[in-house]
Amino acid sequence: MGFHRVVRAASIPAACLLWVMTACLATPAAAIGLLRDPDIEMSLTRLSAPILQAAGLNPKRVRVLIVDDGSLNAFVIDNQTIFVHYGLINRADTPEQLQAVIAHEAAHISNGHIARRMSNLKSARTVSGLGLALAVAAAAAGAGGDAAAGLAFGTSSSALRSFLAHTRAEEASADQSAARYLRSAGVNPQGLVDLHEIFRGQEVLSQGRQDPYMRSHPLTTDRIRAAKAYVAANGNNAQTSAEDAYFYARMRGKLTAFTRSPSWTLRRAGSEPYPDVRLMREAVAHHRNSNLRAALKAIDGALAIRPGDPYYLDLKGQILLESRQTSAAVAAYAQAAKGAPSEPLILGAYGRALLADGQPRAALTQLEAARTRDFRDARVLRDLGQAYAETGQNGMASLAVAERYALQGRMKDAGYHAERASGLLPRGSPPWQRAQDVAVAAEQYEKRSNR
Ligand SMILES: [Zn+2]
Repeated sequence: MGFHRVVRAASIPAACLLWVMTACLATPAAAIGLLRDPDIEMSLTRLSAPILQAAGLNPKRVRVLIVDDGSLNAFVIDNQTIFVHYGLINRADTPEQLQAVIAHEAAHISNGHIARRMSNLKSARTVSGLGLALAVAAAAAGAGGDAAAGLAFGTSSSALRSFLAHTRAEEASADQSAARYLRSAGVNPQGLVDLHEIFRGQEVLSQGRQDPYMRSHPLTTDRIRAAKAYVAANGNNAQTSAEDAYFYARMRGKLTAFTRSPSWTLRRAGSEPYPDVRLMREAVAHHRNSNLRAALKAIDGALAIRPGDPYYLDLKGQILLESRQTSAAVAAYAQAAKGAPSEPLILGAYGRALLADGQPRAALTQLEAARTRDFRDARVLRDLGQAYAETGQNGMASLAVAERYALQGRMKDAGYHAERASGLLPRGSPPWQRAQDVAVAAEQYEKRSNR
């Protein structure tokens, strides 16, 4: 699976180079598409963890996810997930700028701006439908927590836009906290000033011409001045750590390799200072050009520099699987899973390769392990449905289908398959209970939408 886009299935050609899947709540609004990749998320986690810790948040609970959107924005809609558009990551020039984005969003969480929004949301008549969508998504996901609902929102809906917009007072307080987090994490707070400079001058533009980041985080000259004053008073001597510099280059390298054209990547990879990152970027570009031989040579080169790197092995598995070399892909993913045994994206990819290789029973083990660690991955649910069907476990297959539809907001379909699963599964068993949860959520959804 490796790097993949999480979008509406309907718009995707069957033979797409990137893995795709649906994970949106099918509200009329366009869903937030996510870019999922274990390597990119690993680097992002490393860069974010010290900031989140400084903000008093648990880096194991708060996730940073990348939105499949080239415009500049970052936002939080619950206390567990920070969303950053890939456009903003590609636009940031230093690890510190990205870390400033994370610090600012973490401050919105820590300072209670989101909790206040959630309670406003429930009372706002204009967005009454959204509150229900939240509940349904959370129930369907089989767990509480608002993070599951994150996928339910559409970035283009006006309800979401007003939900995301912070007040100037909130912005000032988030900046102040962000500067403190950066400093206590040993990160140069100059990143915050540099981040503001990206948007400088946009306050005079009409809303339609502003970057979405400006609309959700109104920037004023006062904020820039305050950030500069903080840096002047607290120093900007902190150097980028060698580790941060490497993982930032690696993350941006892979992200741009998948979001920009292969020719763009091949033109620039030569000036990449880290040889393994250069080879990884080239591997992706060659793969997207359907040049399997060159792609394998490049990724094997990267692996020669970092032997056993599970994330490079995952990319190798993706290249092989998408080139229909299923047994070689299985071998690469097996090694990757050995090196990163608790990474759901790698386990899911391994399961998918096993399924493609005609080993549904072995696939089930990996897919269930992936689902346990990340119940929101619709692609894993789809593969699970197939693996259960191929091994003759029809009740479990129906349950997986029901849960996937629920995750996608197709509540009518979810309800149908949940009823079917309930009839096939042993009454009172944990899977039967899960099927009941979906059936009840679907019923409630039906009632509300008929009102
Ligand atoms: Zn803000």
